[in-house]
Amino acid sequence: MADSPSQFTPAELERWQFGLSQANLNNILCHCRDCDATWVDSSDEAPCACGSHRVEHIPCWQFPDG
Ligand SMILES: [Zn+2]
Repeated sequence: MADSPSQFTPAELERWQFGLSQANLNNILCHCRDCDATWVDSSDEAPCACGSHRVEHIPCWQFPDG
């Protein structure tokens, strides 16, 4: 039954990984200085859920990868 080990060709995998790296570039870790909440967003414009605009933004690509 399972005679195909992978559904993806190498080219498809490459595209998929490129898409992931692009997604990482758009991910911004947000940290609220008022309520200490953290969340990930694709925008650095959004205020915190608590209404505070004192939010610091750390792009995820600054973190070392594993
Ligand atoms: Zn907050």
